Amino acid sequence: MQSIIIVGGGTAGWLTAVMLNHSYNKLGQQVEIHVIESPEVDIVGVGEATVPAIKDFLQAVGISEYEFLRHTNATIKNGILFRNWRTAKNGRTHEYLHPFEQQRIEKRLDISTSWLLSERELPYDQSVSLVSALVSQELAPKTLSGKEYEGLFRYSYHLDARLFGHYLRNFAQARGVKRTEAHVSKVVTEQGKIVRLETEHGSFQADLFVDCSGFKGLLINKVEPQGNWMSYQDSLLCDKAVTVQQPHEPRYKPKPYTVSEALSSGWAWRIDLQNRQGAGYVYSSRHLNKAEAEKEFRAYLGLPPEVTVRHLDMQIGRRKQQWVGNCVAVGLSSGFIEPLESTGIHLIYLAARAIALHHNFNHTNQVIRDSFNRQMGQTYDELRDFIVMHYVLSDREDSPFWRDVKGTLAHTPSLEAQLELWRHKVCEYFDVCNSASHMFSDASYRYILYGMEYYPKLNLPSRAGEFTDVFAQIAKWQKEVTRVAIRHTDFLDALQSNGNLVTVKMK
Ligand SMILES: Cc1cc2nc3c(=O)[nH]c(=O)nc-3n(C[C@H](O)[C@H](O)[C@H](O)COP(=O)(O)OP(=O)(O)OC[C@H]3O[C@@H](n4cnc5c(N)ncnc54)[C@H](O)[C@@H]3O)c2cc1C
Repeated sequence: MQSIIIVGGGTAGWLTAVMLNHSYNKLGQQVEIHVIESPEVDIVGVGEATVPAIKDFLQAVGISEYEFLRHTNATIKNGILFRNWRTAKNGRTHEYLHPFEQQRIEKRLDISTSWLLSERELPYDQSVSLVSALVSQELAPKTLSGKEYEGLFRYSYHLDARLFGHYLRNFAQARGVKRTEAHVSKVVTEQGKIVRLETEHGSFQADLFVDCSGFKGLLINKVEPQGNWMSYQDSLLCDKAVTVQQPHEPRYKPKPYTVSEALSSGWAWRIDLQNRQGAGYVYSSRHLNKAEAEKEFRAYLGLPPEVTVRHLDMQIGRRKQQWVGNCVAVGLSSGFIEPLESTGIHLIYLAARAIALHHNFNHTNQVIRDSFNRQMGQTYDELRDFIVMHYVLSDREDSPFWRDVKGTLAHTPSLEAQLELWRHKVCEYFDVCNSASHMFSDASYRYILYGMEYYPKLNLPSRAGEFTDVFAQIAKWQKEVTRVAIRHTDFLDALQSNGNLVTVKMK
């Protein structure tokens, strides 16, 4: 029997174990999959907002949505509400939504062009997106007659990272994945390959080793110790985080969206689960020290002194080669991009899927490894550019951080070229369709570009009021969807009664 050892029992370790076990063993045990996790090293314990592809993973491996949501204290995520990413205008805080919704085709040119040429009575997101109406009324994209994984629009979840790991661990173990609690004290290599791992419970060998050991990259650093790291620190300034978890006040209604609020030297997230809120301030240590960051974060949340916070270091960048010899890095060991668009778990899913698609055991060769490394490398680089875009479109000048952000564009020439193009024309599918990863579609790019008021100069003729009917129709649809969608809190209550949505009280 072939064998795979996964070192690490965080989200990366267990998600990869479930994915590979499903891919290789669903018709009978062909590959031994073995997770080794240390009793001494805790998981990072953050990573609680997701993107819709998580539903593909859960469905593909046969997990019930409602059972999963109950076990992980999860809530629904319709998108991300960005606040304060530009300076306030006329006393109004700058705010826009990035929903997961794909935009419908408009009968004239396209919906963005129509909006750009129109009187722009409402901001872009509120004009073109039906989900914006759900968000403003705190509704879930679910209906009374809907089934698991079905929704009016694309959605994802906020989940408890620790409970998610436990859920996947139980799921994997029930399907034959082996687990050993042991600390890997030595990684023995020969000619760029791992030959065995040494622990207090003896040594372990396998055909393939998956490094899910977190930021330290315990295995991948042993097979490729020199020159395998590509830092993104010139383009992404934030490298630290301070975080907190707090139970909800009684009668608090968890929000069906993530909040991302720009602060003096980075940004803060707020993520509501069923029972608590997770929050964190991602900041640049070149602009703020630990104590200053904590002070600003506490003031932002109004945290009393008795509440303790956690400080985290983040290594921003990626491995040049994520797969070397018989070792492949997944999760934080492979690289990390700040969680502004909640992509950490998605990158894990993409890597686990790519291993299953590439790995042929005795036939895995350098061609296979090169292909995997190219795919993952391009995915990271494209995501980096997308995140940098959120920053460089800001007009904030109110702190050294926001002034320095302007200089980061020079380190992402591909984004610089795209932004130059989008100064002259709308961003459309063809501008991003050559993407290797398709992580974010043209619709997502437009939500950010126009939410951040980066508009092209269009040279198309239009009459006053020409598009009134287009946006009146969308407003009508918005009303209709808010009528059929159920309240987020009612959906969460219904989960407790076995996901029986018929028990949901009518609004
Ligand atoms: C501040 C912050 C916010 C984030 N927010 C998001 C988000 O909103 N959405 C998102 O998708 N992602 C987010 N992420 C990323 C996400 O947290 C990670 O991608 C995810 O948790 C996976 O972590 P991991 O499993 O790679 O590492 P870890 O959770 O660190 O797990 C490492 C594992 O390796 C084991 N280990 C370590 N050393 C040894 C050893 N010697 N022997 C045996 N085992 C060992 C540990 O015991 C542990 O089980 C965020 C990350 C950070 C830092």
